[in-house]
Amino acid sequence: MIIIMEPHVTKESKEFKILMEYLERFPHLKVKVLESKGVTRSLLEVHLIGEDYMVSSHEIESLPGVERAVRVTSKYRLIGRHGELDEIGFEYKGLKFDQHSFHLFVGLCAVDTYENAEAIFKALKENGISCARMGAYKPRTSPYDFQGWGKKCLPWLFELAGKYDIKIIVMEVLAGRHIEEIKQSLEEAGNPCGVILQIGTRNAQNFELLKEVGRQKEFPVLYKRGYGLTLEESLNAAEYIASEGNTKIIFCLRGVRTHLGDPHRNLVDFAHVPVVKRLTRLPVCIDPSHPIGSRAEDPDGIKDIYHATAQGVIAGANAVLVEFHPAPEKALCDGPQAIPIEELPLYLKYVNKVRETYLELKKMVQEAK
Ligand code: PEP
Ligand code: MN
Repeated sequence: MIIIMEPHVTKESKEFKILMEYLERFPHLKVKVLESKGVTRSLLEVHLIGEDYMVSSHEIESLPGVERAVRVTSKYRLIGRHGELDEIGFEYKGLKFDQHSFHLFVGLCAVDTYENAEAIFKALKENGISCARMGAYKPRTSPYDFQGWGKKCLPWLFELAGKYDIKIIVMEVLAGRHIEEIKQSLEEAGNPCGVILQIGTRNAQNFELLKEVGRQKEFPVLYKRGYGLTLEESLNAAEYIASEGNTKIIFCLRGVRTHLGDPHRNLVDFAHVPVVKRLTRLPVCIDPSHPIGSRAEDPDGIKDIYHATAQGVIAGANAVLVEFHPAPEKALCDGPQAIPIEELPLYLKYVNKVRETYLELKKMVQEAK
């Protein structure tokens, strides 16, 4: 059961104490308190973990300061909507992330040279984009492939982010020590930007790593669906992050592995955008670069990556994570799918048009109801 307190109630309130005293009569239940600053309101929730069928929601709801009590219907209790809960958005570096917001995370798959990182940041600034993607730690299939520059490239990445007014960089981490390295490097650079920690598809069930990004509350987390996992398994895995205390999570769809995805790298799963929005309280991102895997175009000259982007955005995605490169043929990782950076204005125009259409369609459907 999740007990939602009225907006004015805090952990220090009399109403909260009354509820805690009431719950003492169920000593077998673990009580977990979740306090989060949502975008539209602050939330104080009390979660009852264990066999709670003997707890009367009616009685709980009659206690002072209780807004309502919700029976939990799925295992991913913190991130789940359970049919009736509101979304949990968050604010980071002055930007809102929730199921209504829309952001672009544009940049290099892997940071290779200072010049290439600078070319990307410069293009982002010129096009009014304030969030980037930049891989410093790369999980590669072969140990002989470029593994990213790791902490070596962080100082110049953060320096460049400051120079070009980049507010947030999405960056994959493969181990707990990477979080420390990022934190230290950010501090040494004078915290010019924020970082969203990305959990890649290969680590989608690395529970220890998920717990580590969940234990720290400084950085939000972009969790990528496991490419060989059911949606339910990935939602339960994302719950590990929340269960440790960090609910600043963006859930990212990035395609799933099946031979039926050929000739694309993976099968695009963006029809699941509304499903994840319905099942969870999290903002949903799409990554069209990795499932497509190439710059192939249709007979009209529109890249498959554009089409996949449109599919996700028209389905209501709240963010797009996409790879660009100043010289894709020279990229050390995922060059075949990188869009040349000079195409950024066109891609932006395309995305904005689709997003506007989505908002119009949403309005049209809501008005017809
Ligand atoms: C990436 O975003 O660079 C990446 C490695 O993605 P994924 O984990 O989805 O393969
Ligand atoms: Mn990549």
